[in-house]
Amino acid sequence: MTMVSKSTVDPSISNSSKETKKTLVLIGGGHAHVQVIKGLNHASRPQNLDVILIDLTDHPCYSGMVPSLLSGIYSPEETLIELQPLASWSGIQFIRDRVIDIDIDNKIVITAGKQRISFDAISIDIGSTSRGLIDIPGAKKFCLPTRPISELVRRVELATIALEENSYKRPVNVIVVGGGAAGIELSMSIVGRWKPIVGEENIKVTLLNSYDGLFPDETPVNREALIHRMDERGICIVNNAKVDRVDQNSLKLESGESIEFTHCLWATGARSHTLSSSLQTNGLAVSKAGWIKVNEYFQSISHEYVFAAGDCCTMEIPGSRSSPPKAGVYAVRAGPILIENLTRFLSSSNNDHKIGGAVDKNASFLKAYVPQGDFLKLLACGDGKALGFRFGIPIYGRWVFQLKNAIDRSFMDLFKEGNLPELIEGQPYDTSQYDASGDDRPLPLPSIDAAILLQRTDDDVDFRQAWNVLKDMAENDNYRDKVLHHVGIPLMDKTKGQ
Ligand SMILES: Cc1cc2nc3c(=O)[nH]c(=O)nc-3n(C[C@H](O)[C@H](O)[C@H](O)COP(=O)(O)OP(=O)(O)OC[C@H]3O[C@@H](n4cnc5c(N)ncnc54)[C@H](O)[C@@H]3O)c2cc1C
Repeated sequence: MTMVSKSTVDPSISNSSKETKKTLVLIGGGHAHVQVIKGLNHASRPQNLDVILIDLTDHPCYSGMVPSLLSGIYSPEETLIELQPLASWSGIQFIRDRVIDIDIDNKIVITAGKQRISFDAISIDIGSTSRGLIDIPGAKKFCLPTRPISELVRRVELATIALEENSYKRPVNVIVVGGGAAGIELSMSIVGRWKPIVGEENIKVTLLNSYDGLFPDETPVNREALIHRMDERGICIVNNAKVDRVDQNSLKLESGESIEFTHCLWATGARSHTLSSSLQTNGLAVSKAGWIKVNEYFQSISHEYVFAAGDCCTMEIPGSRSSPPKAGVYAVRAGPILIENLTRFLSSSNNDHKIGGAVDKNASFLKAYVPQGDFLKLLACGDGKALGFRFGIPIYGRWVFQLKNAIDRSFMDLFKEGNLPELIEGQPYDTSQYDASGDDRPLPLPSIDAAILLQRTDDDVDFRQAWNVLKDMAENDNYRDKVLHHVGIPLMDKTKGQ
């Protein structure tokens, strides 16, 4: 069902390729940049544009698949994006190194390996780290943090081996700190992986959530479904639990209560990398929390030759809309727009690189990003099933995991060496999206049948048929409302997006 969508190239942009060489430096091979690497291949980008990618790892992990990697459903190789072959195919120089500073005014990137790389424009997609890991005493020393993901995977694997070898002689008492999507999925993954090894009576998993309840922005029926599914797996949820300090086998809450653990996973929300404080010192506009401030074109509000996308930025959107949440899905959706805007900016003849904020001309030649309001949220449950939320209602079962698996694998397939197509000079940018609707969808199911299908939790549901229903609902408000009417849920606002 994945469809290739080709962006049209403005002739003025192609003509400008005769101009002097320009260098674009991509910092971080995150969810947005992997698409830029692919889109800005040597055959599609202006001939005068050189692109350099810098990442501290040559195979970042696709976070959407990590919980199911930890629960043993995926192998590590299935979850990794190999940057080197992708960059080679694209004719992009890949430097494996950590960026430690950027001289914004003189346009030089500085790496831990003491490289100094000049640029005409940079794009930053370095993601985030875990909140509280440095500030809460003992957290870094005694917990398994979710970032870097490779370290989380390594340490969970070591712990699993110890359990399998029975070298761990007491009941397993796991604490997961963080009641967001990552913490919820990790707690279910750990149950899925470790319960069969140690036996139901020997494992206790507790999720510490700092808020009043899980997913406060979801509908009551979604929140109930989540609690029910976690309860089914024996996960204990403690709300309003703020960690004050962590010791070797126990942690203390701000309330004064102490909780013991054998393993503690730190899955709190996103925090900015320390690199952002040096960027701020160097004059780049950065928010109080350390996020790079960009406009709706992913362009720094202080330096128009600096772009940023994904978790590391905060977007100032005209009107009252707030910046999108820190979630991979938004970083993924940024990719195609970033490709357009980087190329347009670098190819623009009146690109004067002046400092001092976004200027009016952007409105006509850069493409604005409109973050989707509601989207399909899918939580892997650690045992081959998943729970999803869309249009205010829950969906659950093996078929929901199959749907998640299909979406995640389609995204990964876009970057696999064996799937990269032969390039033809001058071909348009490839901004393929993993879940684009094809024209070959059958006619929508009658709304009552669609409602029944979405509420099924048995193993016989065809996930493709249910996925088509969700796509039909996203494209047709009237149909969506009819389906929701049959589900018996009050109609939600007319937010679109998938
Ligand atoms: C366990 C877990 C599960 C999650 N599951 C989901 C999910 O199912 N759905 C969802 O929408 N979101 C999920 N998230 C959130 C999601 O991971 C992030 O929102 C997403 O990864 C952000 O993408 P990004 O492109 O901003 O950065 P990332 O994908 O994190 O990529 C950043 C890249 O920058 C590189 N880098 C970092 N610093 C430097 C530096 N100084 N120099 C050079 N390179 C650098 C890193 O090596 C990495 O390759 C999950 C998070 C976790 C922790």
